[in-house]
Amino acid sequence: MTTTTADPAIERFLDETRDRRLDSYKELLRIPSISALPQHAADCQATADWIAAELERIGIENVSVEETTGHPVVYGDWLHAEGAPTAIVYCHYDVQPVDPLELWDSPPFEPVVVEGKMLARGAADDKGQLHLQLRATEAILAARGKLPVNLRFIFEGDEESSAAPLEGWLATHRERLAADVAVISDTGFFEGNLPAITISLRGMMYAQIDVIGTDVDLHSGGYGGVVDNPANALARIIAALKGPDGRILIPGFYDDVVALTDEERALLDALPFDEEAHRAKIGVPALAGESGFSVLERKGARPTLDVNGIWGGFQGAGTKTIIPAHAHAKLSCRLVTAQDPDRVFEALRAFVEDIAPPSVEVSVTRLGGGRPVLTPVDHPATRAAARALEATFGKAPVYIREGGSIPVCASFEENLGLPVVLLGFSPPGDRAHAPNEWMDLQNYETGIRTIVRMWDELAALDRAELDAAS
Ligand SMILES: [Zn+2]
Repeated sequence: MTTTTADPAIERFLDETRDRRLDSYKELLRIPSISALPQHAADCQATADWIAAELERIGIENVSVEETTGHPVVYGDWLHAEGAPTAIVYCHYDVQPVDPLELWDSPPFEPVVVEGKMLARGAADDKGQLHLQLRATEAILAARGKLPVNLRFIFEGDEESSAAPLEGWLATHRERLAADVAVISDTGFFEGNLPAITISLRGMMYAQIDVIGTDVDLHSGGYGGVVDNPANALARIIAALKGPDGRILIPGFYDDVVALTDEERALLDALPFDEEAHRAKIGVPALAGESGFSVLERKGARPTLDVNGIWGGFQGAGTKTIIPAHAHAKLSCRLVTAQDPDRVFEALRAFVEDIAPPSVEVSVTRLGGGRPVLTPVDHPATRAAARALEATFGKAPVYIREGGSIPVCASFEENLGLPVVLLGFSPPGDRAHAPNEWMDLQNYETGIRTIVRMWDELAALDRAELDAAS
C-alpha cells in the first residue's frame, strides 16, 4: 500500500510521531462523550476542551469552545494562505451510548489495539476521523510552517443526539464562516475496504397519523358493524400509501425526484456488490422494494416510506372484544434530491385527508425532517478528493450514495451555500453505534496522508473553476 503525501518532510514527521499519535488517539477515546445522556454533559465539555487545547498546540488560531443550546461547538481557523481556497472541516466529537455493555469484548472507553484495529466507542464514528484531521494539519504545520489552504475547523458535540444546535450556531455565525467547500469526515469506505467518496445522503420527512373514533373503547358486540374501527381505518390508510410493487402512491410524491442518469446507474452497477450475499447477511427470506431498481439504487437514489411504529386497541394477553377508541402510526420517508421535506409532508397530509373515511377523525402531524444532499462527482473539490485518495490508498475511489442522513450537510449547503465533500475513512462493518466499534488503523494512518494530499490538491485547483462550480 502506498502512503505518500509527496512530501518527505511530512512523511518523516508522521513516521517519528506514530506512537505519540496513537497515545493521543486513545486519550481522546477515553473521554465518554455520550451526547444523548445528560450525565455525560461534563464529558462532552471535557472533550471539547481537549480538542481546543490540541488545536492551539498544533498552531491553529482563534480557537474557541462556544456555547450552544446543546453541547459546545469547537471552532478554530488558520487563514494565512492568501488567494488559496478555504475549507471548513467538520467532524463530531460526541458518541453513541454503549449499551448493551455485556456485548463488548473490552470496555468501550478503554481503547485497545487488536490486530491492527483500534477498538473503542468513537474509534471510527467519529473521533478517529476527527483525530486524523488534527494529525494531518499538525504534520503540515510542523513540516512546512504553513498550510496550502485556509482551514476553519468546526467540531460539534450533538451529532448523535436528537438535538441540532449546530444549525442555529451556523446561522448565527454565517458571516464569519466564509469558505469555498465543506469537507466532512464522518463516512466510510465501500465493501472490501475500497476507498470511497459519498456523493449523496438521503433526507427525511417524519410524521404521525392519528385516527380517532370515540372517547372510549366500545363493545364490539353492541357497536360492531355500526361504527368504524379506527385501527381498521388506519390500516386502510397505510395500505393506500404504497403499492405491492413498492411504489409510493401519494400523488406528487415523486415530482421532485431527480432520476439517475444512465451514467450514474452504470457507476452504481459497476460497484462490487452482491445482492444475494447482502440478503443473506441481513437474514431475511427475500429482499423487497420498488421494482425496476437495484438494491444500491433503492438504498441511495430512491425515496422510501416506512411505518416506524403502529399502535392502538387491546394489546394484553387473551382477548378483549372492543372497537378501539383510537389508533396511531409513526412513519418516515427517506428523501432524495431534490425532494423537499415540507412539500412531501403536505402531499402526505393532503392524500391522507383525501382518503380518510368520514366515519373517523384523522390528523397528520409533522415530527421532523431534513433535506437530501448531493455533490456531483465532477465537482472540482470532489475530484481533488478523488486524486488524494488514489495517490495515498493506491486505488481510485468508488462513489457511493448513502441511505442515511448527516443533517449538518444540508445546513452547510443551505445556510452557507457550500458544496460538501464527504471524505471519510471508516472501514465497512466498523460496528458504529453497536458494541465493539473499531477503526482500521491502516485506514486511519493512510487517511492522515489523504487529508494532507487533499489540501495540496485543493490548493492547486483553478480558482475560476472552483468559483464557477460553487
Ligand atoms: Zn458520525
